[in-house]
Amino acid sequence: KEEFSRGALRTKTVEDILTPLKDCFMLSSGAVLDFNTMSEIMQSGYTRVPIYEDERSNIVDILYLKDLALVDPEDRTPMSTITKFYNHPLHFVFNDTKLDAMLEEFKKGKSHLAIVQKVNNEGEGDPFYEVLGLVTLEDVIEEIIKSEILEE
Ligand code: ADP
Repeated sequence: KEEFSRGALRTKTVEDILTPLKDCFMLSSGAVLDFNTMSEIMQSGYTRVPIYEDERSNIVDILYLKDLALVDPEDRTPMSTITKFYNHPLHFVFNDTKLDAMLEEFKKGKSHLAIVQKVNNEGEGDPFYEVLGLVTLEDVIEEIIKSEILEE
């Protein structure tokens, strides 16, 4: 345990390793689970798909690939029907969360994917939460492996 808290894991943050919002595969809450949408999800290869409302920065739900097991594309089920039914918790973290803290949070269970946000107070207006991207347990483990190799 001590070993994993060394070096990069103590100093690097989730912002350093996240998948940026522009590269995230996401779908709109207004999508319909027809043949096209379901193929798109399958072809993306991801097991979890953030669902946004109106704009990509407004993530409101998360769809798991396994939620589609009983969905028939012929039924053209609205995305919101499925996300409301499963209602998976969304996990938000701040951009300055250190990787060792993130690892501990992922280990506590719930989901192994978190949405990274920061407080944006750069503009004239009121500060607001800005979504930067997503981070998963896989991203943290990749850093652990990298740092283990470098430190040996
Ligand atoms: P998966 O189980 O979907 O393969 P992982 O947790 O193994 O996802 O993560 C693999 C990589 O894919 C990580 O870099 C992670 O940030 C990224 N990732 C996970 N979900 C998505 C998504 N919906 N869109 C874009 N990148 C994603």
